[in-house]
Amino acid sequence: MVLKQMASVIRKKLTVKGTVQGVGFRPFIYRVATECNLAGFIANTTNGVIIEAEGAEANVNSLIRRIVSDGPPNAQILSLDQQNLSTTGENGFSIIPSRGNGEISLMVAPDTAVCLDCLREINDPSDRRFRYPFNSCVNCGPRYTIVEDVPFDRETTSMRVFPMCKACLREYRDPDSRRFHSQTNSCRECGPRLWLADKHGNEIPCVDAALATANLLKKGKIVAIRGLGGFHLAVNAEDDDAVKLLRSRKKRPTKPFAIMSARLDNVKSYAHVTAQEEAMLESRLAPIVLLQKRKGNSIAESVAPNNSTLGVMLAYTPLHSLLLSGGFRALVMTSGNLSEEPIKCSVEDAIGNLAHIADYFLLHNREIVRRCDDSIVKFYGGNHTIMRRARGYVPRPIVLERPLKPICAYGSHLKNTICVAKGGHAYVSRYVGDLDNLETVEYLEETVAEMERLLSVRPEIIACDMHPDYASTKLASERTGLRLCKVQHHHAHIVSCAAENGVYDRIIGVAFDGAGLGDDGAVWGSEFMIADAAGYDRVAHLKYFPMPGGDAVVREPYRMAISYLFGMMGDSARALPLDVIRETDDGRLAVLLNMMRRNDNSPPTSGMGRLFDAVAAILGLCYNATFEGEGPVYLESLIERGVEDSYHFAFDNSSKCAVIDPSPVLMSILEDVRKGSEPPAISARFHNAVVRMVADICAMSREKTGLETVAVSGGVFQNTYLLERLTKSLSEHGFTVLTHKSLSPNDECISFGQAVIANER
Ligand SMILES: [Zn+2]
Ligand SMILES: [Zn+2]
Ligand SMILES: [Zn+2]
Repeated sequence: MVLKQMASVIRKKLTVKGTVQGVGFRPFIYRVATECNLAGFIANTTNGVIIEAEGAEANVNSLIRRIVSDGPPNAQILSLDQQNLSTTGENGFSIIPSRGNGEISLMVAPDTAVCLDCLREINDPSDRRFRYPFNSCVNCGPRYTIVEDVPFDRETTSMRVFPMCKACLREYRDPDSRRFHSQTNSCRECGPRLWLADKHGNEIPCVDAALATANLLKKGKIVAIRGLGGFHLAVNAEDDDAVKLLRSRKKRPTKPFAIMSARLDNVKSYAHVTAQEEAMLESRLAPIVLLQKRKGNSIAESVAPNNSTLGVMLAYTPLHSLLLSGGFRALVMTSGNLSEEPIKCSVEDAIGNLAHIADYFLLHNREIVRRCDDSIVKFYGGNHTIMRRARGYVPRPIVLERPLKPICAYGSHLKNTICVAKGGHAYVSRYVGDLDNLETVEYLEETVAEMERLLSVRPEIIACDMHPDYASTKLASERTGLRLCKVQHHHAHIVSCAAENGVYDRIIGVAFDGAGLGDDGAVWGSEFMIADAAGYDRVAHLKYFPMPGGDAVVREPYRMAISYLFGMMGDSARALPLDVIRETDDGRLAVLLNMMRRNDNSPPTSGMGRLFDAVAAILGLCYNATFEGEGPVYLESLIERGVEDSYHFAFDNSSKCAVIDPSPVLMSILEDVRKGSEPPAISARFHNAVVRMVADICAMSREKTGLETVAVSGGVFQNTYLLERLTKSLSEHGFTVLTHKSLSPNDECISFGQAVIANER
């Protein structure tokens, strides 16, 4: 009986959806099917992959089990449908050409860091790919940044112009090779070319461009390097003069630069690395990980001044590895964006835009179809938070517990991303950036068109922010004939965090950030809400203080210190023995005070980011910010560990929405300054006060509503001291705490929240 069952032959059609192209899925199926003695075929389609398998029933089932349990490391299976077919008596299993018809419901794989096998080859003088800068295989290499269309095949990528040589083609056809059906397969004979050029773009003849570049970097030169998703500007990270030269040419005085090392032991020489951080650095994602600096390390102080951390990544392409093997502990690898414009990726653009910064260019002729920044993550107390979600993560979808209608959400104004949702999946785009210049706005439009095309989504609903002046709102409003849904910024933050965690019930939401337009026209930014996707009640916020000059306070945070100090103390603030008062000359002070008194360009704000700005300015740490959040980052960086006491906020519970008054906190800080307390201890007490205040408000909300789940979102929670302490404190008080898992808590997460809310309305 058993024998008879095993012998019964069946044929099944399997449709597998998800990230199943460009990840070695077809070779994997081919191998398993052959091992299982199955006949049939596998093909890429615009809808995923289709497998037809014929053979003994047990063997077909074993194939299905292994698809789920041992698929290739970079594959992400979202669904597997089975359909019974009649047997055909076919012999042998084959990979057949892609089928391009039908509805598209597939995204390409993210770019993946170079694998160890490929690295070994480029370091082996006897290997034919010795020192080949574009080595890759089915397990690694570029995907998202080179793909022009789906399905993923060489013909739909920028590798199209590099036909394989005989040796490469042999590997491509060999089921035992790790390059079997590798669409990026190439070698020095047939693949992309690397060359060195002067600052005008003229090629400099040399035998080994990577080696020549390493020698220039050793001499303190600045080299613009064309990489995977755009250009980096590189200098030797141990050469203080070179780093300072880069800072002055890039007009970036203090914002930390990311650095790259070849190996973990290099990293451990200058930074503390936990086991979790180690695993993340060496993962296929290979993001920038923010690590604690070691005291007395050899990295130039100018790489990350006033900061206790260093942003570090490991070489994630063979090219990077070759450069670093030229004898560097680390190279600065900062993105080639000028100010906040999107990364330049064509050779012509880069030479035009970076010639006044770079001394040389290291170029290649594999076109970057799609730009992509480096991702950034930071660990805290056993968890991590994503500071920027890009290379390695994009374009993986968020799998939703509740399906969404076809929606395109246009996101926020700063740190913009968009979100295209369809069915059970929401796709948050690459990082688009701050929509302050035309170029980034065009980049946003490009991203919308591309995501809708690649995912074949025709949106029924368009979502955007409530703010009428945001470029994202304007673009969204131009989409005629579709339902437009405007969403409050902090509501989007909170729902984004909850839905990412699969929670759709009403919860207590805490959103702390710099700015978002509120229902009352004020600039909100420290919002406690009882919320679900359908709506919210605002239950508490920081007391409003004016922002003299509106958005100018972001670049000139000392203005907020003036606002708070004079708002609390009136004219007697003039006598405070603080540099922020002394250094603001009388004329300027009069202008600011007049603006606030006349309510002229001084919108009221409850922004938590603004309170952090004010504290940083009062402590003399940052009057004018050269990058967003400079003061708060400095404030977090210098916290004295072991200081457990805290200042106290006051609460006014007289109306339905509680008002949190920071005045007692600021008065205690002034008192501590007068007594000669140092900023590290004051910063710790200030942070502890914020944690305590949030825990208190959550407890009050629980009393009123019985709700016990808290969702935490907003750029302020990139502060991991705050996030770690708050999560701990809330958990100890019996709350379930939801934090962002695969999105950043900053405004990158807004588009996803907008999509979920728009679906609900
Ligand atoms: Zn590889
Ligand atoms: Zn070749
Ligand atoms: Zn925000």
